[in-house]
Amino acid sequence: MEHADSNLHSWVEVHSQAGMKPVNDILAAHYNNEEIGMTTLKKQLEDHVKAINHFDTRRRYGPDGHNDRSLWVLACMDERLPVDKALGIHADSPVGGGDAHLFRNAGGIVTDDAIRSAMLTCNFFGTKEIVIVQHTQCGMLSANAADLEQAFRDKGIDPDAIAVDPSLPELTLKKGAFAKWIGMMDEVDRACLKTIEAFKNHPLIPDDVVISGWIWEVETSRLRAPSLDAGRMSKNIDVTSTQFGVKGKQPPRWD
Ligand SMILES: [Zn+2]
Repeated sequence: MEHADSNLHSWVEVHSQAGMKPVNDILAAHYNNEEIGMTTLKKQLEDHVKAINHFDTRRRYGPDGHNDRSLWVLACMDERLPVDKALGIHADSPVGGGDAHLFRNAGGIVTDDAIRSAMLTCNFFGTKEIVIVQHTQCGMLSANAADLEQAFRDKGIDPDAIAVDPSLPELTLKKGAFAKWIGMMDEVDRACLKTIEAFKNHPLIPDDVVISGWIWEVETSRLRAPSLDAGRMSKNIDVTSTQFGVKGKQPPRWD
């Protein structure tokens, strides 16, 4: 009996990792004779084991090995932005994960590596949708990028002479572009709209990919659409750098 329980426990864990229905639901459906109709439990289990094997090796199948929702998510790295909760998915969490390829960077903004990653998943791994999530109270609103650049200069570092990707020295920033490259924002809503537009217009992203962007309100734990409506923005705190007390406009990136 102990042995059987142990097997069941292990099977439930594997089953759960593969993002399928909890075993109790399947057994309940079996006993209620609902959902599975005349299908035997044996057949059901065979299908599930096949699905687990596919999950383990899905990248070998190219576009046919897409993640569970054929989805790529771009989100800010901020720990107060809970991607799974905000979007109602299980991106890559240990239990029931696999809904999306999840890419996080400072701000959840378009960058060369965001394009690189989206290009790969959309063209070769069967991804059909891009969802962008930025948020209120983002650290990317909290300083002027020109001041950040100066902070490096004060430490004796010349940002104009930095390889932004040490493994790819061909990728260089033009002199004076460092502050713009940092990508600090004046308004999170504007940056979100510009990021959506950048992916929609990019030649490496297929035209039929569905693209949307959203703002997570840290203060209310609520998702909303980005908007430049002044009345709406005035009701939210910390969606602009001015609300953080930042002086001056950022180096141009989101205009
Ligand atoms: Zn952020």
